[in-house]
Amino acid sequence: MYVEVLVEIQNKQVDKTFTYKVKEEQQENVKIGCRVLVPFGKMIIEGYVLNILKETERDAKEIIEVLDEEPVLNEEMLTLGKELKELTLCSLSACYSAMLPKALKASHKSKVNKKLESYLKLCVSFETAYQCCKSASQKDVIHLFEQENVLLKKKANLVSASATKTLIKNKIIEEITSEVYRYQIKNTNQEEKCSLNEEQTKAVNEIEKGLNTSNIYLLHGVTGSGKTEVYLELIEQVIKQEKQALVLVPEISITTQLIKRFSKRFTRLACLHSGLSDGERFDEWRKILRNEVDIVIGARSAVFAPLKNIGIIIFDEEHSESFKQENNPKYHALDVAKIRSKTHQCPIVLGSATPSLETMARAMKKRYTYIPLTKRVAGGSLPLVSLVDMEPEIKMHHPILSRELECSIIEALNNNEQVLLLLNRRGYSTTISCSNCGYTYRCPYCDITLTYHKSSNQLRCHYCGYTIYKSDICPECKEEGLNYYGLGTEKLEDYLEEVFPTAKIVRMDRDSTTKKGAYDQIIEDFQNHKYDILLGTQMISKGLDFDHVSLVGILNADQSLNIPDYRSNERTFSLLYQACGRAGRRKKRGQVILQTFNPEHYILKCVQNENYFDFYKYEMNIRKTLKYPPFFYLVTILIKSKDYHEASQEASKIAKYLKSQIDSSTILLGPTTANQFMINKVYHFEINIKYRFDDKLKEALKELDSMYLMNKKVAIDIDFQ
Ligand code: ADP
Ligand code: ZN
Repeated sequence: MYVEVLVEIQNKQVDKTFTYKVKEEQQENVKIGCRVLVPFGKMIIEGYVLNILKETERDAKEIIEVLDEEPVLNEEMLTLGKELKELTLCSLSACYSAMLPKALKASHKSKVNKKLESYLKLCVSFETAYQCCKSASQKDVIHLFEQENVLLKKKANLVSASATKTLIKNKIIEEITSEVYRYQIKNTNQEEKCSLNEEQTKAVNEIEKGLNTSNIYLLHGVTGSGKTEVYLELIEQVIKQEKQALVLVPEISITTQLIKRFSKRFTRLACLHSGLSDGERFDEWRKILRNEVDIVIGARSAVFAPLKNIGIIIFDEEHSESFKQENNPKYHALDVAKIRSKTHQCPIVLGSATPSLETMARAMKKRYTYIPLTKRVAGGSLPLVSLVDMEPEIKMHHPILSRELECSIIEALNNNEQVLLLLNRRGYSTTISCSNCGYTYRCPYCDITLTYHKSSNQLRCHYCGYTIYKSDICPECKEEGLNYYGLGTEKLEDYLEEVFPTAKIVRMDRDSTTKKGAYDQIIEDFQNHKYDILLGTQMISKGLDFDHVSLVGILNADQSLNIPDYRSNERTFSLLYQACGRAGRRKKRGQVILQTFNPEHYILKCVQNENYFDFYKYEMNIRKTLKYPPFFYLVTILIKSKDYHEASQEASKIAKYLKSQIDSSTILLGPTTANQFMINKVYHFEINIKYRFDDKLKEALKELDSMYLMNKKVAIDIDFQ
């Protein structure tokens, strides 16, 4: 017997299978989708078995070991990987890797194993055991069995390790080992479910009709309109049909809050997100493989969860950019979900208060079924949003908090209400430069200004992670002229503590939440009103449901409008709209204050009026004029090299080559230097291609990709946006 093995060699994309011989005694264990250890040149590496053959013409080496009892890739996954390769033009082995948790990837020598735990149980009856005891401490150990039949060995050891040992030796009790799952959702009380309102019921009924189809639904509901409740109801129906639900949420909104809410209704639940350790992920994955769960909640890569009979796929916060992977394979989870929805004949539900333009455009064209939820369930009305022009504020020496925002904070604090402040910049100050000589700290690898982090007294590059300590004097002219410019969350925290000395203030950003559980702790404490003010980056703007927040302040509302990216309007609208949704989710009408230097900007007006469709029409017009998605598809080709001239020359060559290949209706722009021109001393050029229908383009890109696979000097990166 022979097998075809897809080997994985670090950093090299040898996307080929090699044939190996299987020894007699291994033949029973080898299955398609298992990992095997094989010799490869002088190395020993891992690979996936893709095919089993009876015979082969060529000489073949023998496989060394079969690594899995059960395949890590089932039939669906094996096919899905091939489709993912087509979608992203990435190597097949990279695709399979992306689909598996770390512990199950080939060639990622991780030490993750099943977690085993030792238990004890009585070999004889309780009375006999008790009579056999030769000491008081042995009796104490046996006493533990009054409550439990099977006992954690640790517990007995706590009473007396030596007595436990003797009892095992004398065969009064026996030791058994069994596997335990590392991740446990804290037991929560089951809760009465609330009865759905009219709109929710309509939504559920509509989607229920499509439960055994591959229809796609857009559930467009304002914040607090009860979308999650609709998901829960649908999931219940799906489970009744003995099928499973796959729920995808953006990484930052998978909070304990959300998981608790699901676990109040359902128990057979697995979670997959980056907050888990490799071991926990491994366990959750195997729970799914073993059919022990009905629901998987997870971030992007959970779309590959090996559920066998999916009945519904839900994307919460559908517009979130985190559903697209930034590294290879650069897939969008929705594209993968669409393939799975066809395979399983299950619907996809896309939920959002601010659907992406692509999604809304498809709903308008009736490719997706549009379902609106227009009212907030708690009856609370949408908040009052005001725009504050910061130009006069700066003249009045209120550059951080405008007078209006400061007064409103004071009022909220006096009323014992909570305040959220959003500032989408972490760190202390965004620039440090010398007033004497003009020196500015910059990253030597990426050529951008370094952000100062006061807590560690370090300057940090937010691109490559380069850090240096700040000195007291200017490194250039040695004078004491260093000044801080630009506002980050750390500085805001200092400032707030100064202005509101009695308020309890907490900061949430990537720096304050690096420790495991820190994020949940802050949310929980804020929920329990241990703090009055929560300030933070966009982390605080999503999916959170706070009872006592009456005021939301957004400090640099227009900052993200200035980023040169065709999506910056959309990103800004959705961020601000979501942030507004955090105010006054209960009875009292909330207030939102947006500070800006562009009070006339149309996007901000749309936020102020909370009018999604005004935004949609405005932005669709721009996209149409500029030939951007959803009117055109966009693919970006990055050309990267440590050698500037090499990169520039190859970029021109590539552009020329592609121009000769593509359809006449396709638009090629560039090459130009990329937005972030230098990252980690690597120069970046880019070519953008806008197209509608172009089969030749995809072929040309495949060709291009293979041309550069082995190029040591220049790498290319293809990204279907
Ligand atoms: P969304 O996901 O649209 O932001 P949620 O589903 O989180 O909205 O609902 C907001 C709040 O309203 C939650 O606390 C939820 O428990 C509650 N809720 C949802 N639907 C109902 C309902 N039909 N009756 C009463 N409360 C509801
Ligand atoms: Zn850098």
